[in-house]
Amino acid sequence: MNIEPRSSYSPLEISKEDFIKAGHELVDQIGELLCCFDNRLVTSGKRPSQIKAILGDAPMPAKGVESPKELLHESARLLFDNSLFNGHPMFFGYITSSPTPIGILSDFLASAINPNVGAGVLSPMATEIELQTIKWMAEFIGYPTDCGGVMVSGGNMANFIGFLAARKAKANWNIREEGLGDKKLLVYASEENHTWIHKAADLFGLGLQSIRWIKPLPNREMDLTMLEQKIKEDQENGHHPFCVVGNAGTVSLGVVDPLDEISILCKKYNLWFHVDGAYGAPAAGLPSASKKLKGLSLADSVAIDPHKWFYSPIEAGCTLVRNKQHLIDAFSFNPAYYNFKGDGGDQPVNFHEFGMQNSRGFKALKVWMAFKQIGREGFQKIIQQDIDLAKMLLEEVMATPELETFMQSLSITTFRFVPYGINGDDPKQKDYLNELNQKILNKIQEQGEAFVSNAVIDGRFLLRACIVNFRTREEHIKLLPKIVVRVGRELVGSW
Ligand SMILES: *Cc1c(COP(=O)(O)O)cnc(C)c1O
Repeated sequence: MNIEPRSSYSPLEISKEDFIKAGHELVDQIGELLCCFDNRLVTSGKRPSQIKAILGDAPMPAKGVESPKELLHESARLLFDNSLFNGHPMFFGYITSSPTPIGILSDFLASAINPNVGAGVLSPMATEIELQTIKWMAEFIGYPTDCGGVMVSGGNMANFIGFLAARKAKANWNIREEGLGDKKLLVYASEENHTWIHKAADLFGLGLQSIRWIKPLPNREMDLTMLEQKIKEDQENGHHPFCVVGNAGTVSLGVVDPLDEISILCKKYNLWFHVDGAYGAPAAGLPSASKKLKGLSLADSVAIDPHKWFYSPIEAGCTLVRNKQHLIDAFSFNPAYYNFKGDGGDQPVNFHEFGMQNSRGFKALKVWMAFKQIGREGFQKIIQQDIDLAKMLLEEVMATPELETFMQSLSITTFRFVPYGINGDDPKQKDYLNELNQKILNKIQEQGEAFVSNAVIDGRFLLRACIVNFRTREEHIKLLPKIVVRVGRELVGSW
């Protein structure tokens, strides 16, 4: 065969000297970013079309660049100037944490080793580190440490894993062979549940009608009387209730369902008890945790999201499953072309058997490193501080006449702007206040001094600050009500 010989030096390769130089320079740049968010806005507030214009619409380059170092440097600049920084101490939006610096470096290390954590033989130490990370997460939140578990990309995927394990375990026919057929599997969830459950019911073949929505009580917790009544009715009507989802911190308000009592109901009716702890599960590890939150230790599966309240860089989610056989039952296939089993008794753990992915990245390292960096007590302290700051925000809002508080739970505080002379309880003002607060939210997000998101509760549009941010301090909390009032007044004057 007549081929052009490949040079001993691939164009993709970077020489040792250049790699070290480029890497150091990038780390210097990132160090400057991480040290000094207070000198920047949370976001540039540029419109998508402006961002697109900055990037340009060149076709894929036919040839490469001279200097990878320059390329890295320029690309870092491009991102620094045109990103939203959830690492900023004034970022309080959704449930997104500042990324741990050690996690940032860990992702770099993880991709250098590039283990495929789908199979033990392809990732010997990474597999053990993931197992240990899962065990430590379970230990932290008070879940049995001999549980099974798997790391995934985030909360949605973590909940899907629990959902699928439940579906498999509680169908009393061979669902792997026969599928759902005409059987009606039913899942019970609070109306406050995160929308992952819509996706799960749709994607996994149950259909949206298989979700039995439980209206929350006035305090927003799941109404257990209604839950039990619906389960009974459905069982009597020959349906197959299979799972109840409890929330360890709802996505909008941070409300914790009475998980201890839900677990009793699930035992009584032989249902799988899944806890969505994507946001709040880590708070179960605090000395201040409530009995209802600690009830997550009784669940059959728990979704937990290290990229939320363990401050890991995105992506990192995890599902814990009380009995690991349930993961294997739901997810394990072993084709002939896998040689992953090893000889004799000392068998490797193969994570492809525990979840949906085949090739898998090393998501555990950044979580494991942070656990080692500051330990259990370190995390307990920071998580508790986030909660205390959210409480402090409530007090600041209460002390501000033009702000009306709604609720504070875990590290979420909700409130809204009500101008002088307007009565927030007057139903005639509802639309006006909703529109005003929507405008305030957009303006704040655009201006970039702070970033909050919203909740809509009983038709009221609320501003919502969620503190899962180890960089936020009291001075930042004190600033937020002032920004909201200033923007609110500007808008009232101009509109
Ligand atoms: C954030 C969140 C999810 C979704 O998690 P992702 O990591 O965004 O996929 C699910 N449930 C709750 C309660 C959440 O807070």
